[in-house]
Amino acid sequence: MKPKLVRTVAALRRETASWRKQGLRYAVVPTMGAIHEGHTHLVSKGLKRADRVIATIFVNPKQFAANEDLDKYPRDEEGDVRKLGAAGTHLIFLPSPGDMYAPGFTTTVTLGGPAKAGLEDKFRPQFFDGVATVVAKLFIQTGADYAMFGEKDYQQLKVVTRMAKDLDIPIEVIGVPTVRDPDGLAKSSRNVYLSKPERQHALAIYSTLTHAAEHIRAGQNLQSAIRAATRTLMALGFKVDYVTVRNADTLAIPQHRDEPLRLIAAAWLGKTRLIDNIPV
Ligand code: AMP
Repeated sequence: MKPKLVRTVAALRRETASWRKQGLRYAVVPTMGAIHEGHTHLVSKGLKRADRVIATIFVNPKQFAANEDLDKYPRDEEGDVRKLGAAGTHLIFLPSPGDMYAPGFTTTVTLGGPAKAGLEDKFRPQFFDGVATVVAKLFIQTGADYAMFGEKDYQQLKVVTRMAKDLDIPIEVIGVPTVRDPDGLAKSSRNVYLSKPERQHALAIYSTLTHAAEHIRAGQNLQSAIRAATRTLMALGFKVDYVTVRNADTLAIPQHRDEPLRLIAAAWLGKTRLIDNIPV
């Protein structure tokens, strides 16, 4: 199916108004493009819930710090449209940065709770304010019933869920399990930055988390499991930002072992930053 492309909020709203008139329900899948099976899986899950799916493609300058990869972030509109279309996407919204942040734009969503858990926020201080601001805009612009987000970006999923709830945006945020390569590496637009040997090493992040989760389930102390996982990754040449176990709902440091737990990690392999997480 060839999806319809819209580039302005006015054109987007014409489409969604006609869906509403027909009584259709629709889901939005926000992305930064560089579409892979992780994204198309979100589309498939959206199609299970709703009659129509909108994908958005916007490389959001507000969530990149000056030293990050905004300029070299992979962009391939034609390929993205083809892949999203093949997955069954009905409508693709591709706003321009100038439209998203028109002259005079000053409003930023300020966050607490899961956005201040000391994970991504510690290493990328502007990141979640930028994410939440653009995601709030996309929720309001699309007026979607459902928003599909990947567990791959686990803290982000918790942040946008909280934000939609706190701001009474009438949308249900749905978390979708991480899609992985056959060896376990989480699919990511940034995996294209990995050299061949780095790609081989990269799967260690998932296998190390998997081992740590097994040890915790077998009764190992949380701190020693985390220390062992950190040491393993460092020995393999990763520069570890964090490996931690958190309450799976609040992202707070767990007080009891019987809380729902999530192992979460971020580490550099050369110039590429990888993140991953799994349930315990
Ligand atoms: P991005 O384009 O990287 O900003 O991601 C857009 C959406 O796709 C976010 O909700 C991500 O969590 C989700 N996503 C990215 N990679 C994966 C993956 N491997 N599995 C599932 N969802 C993913």
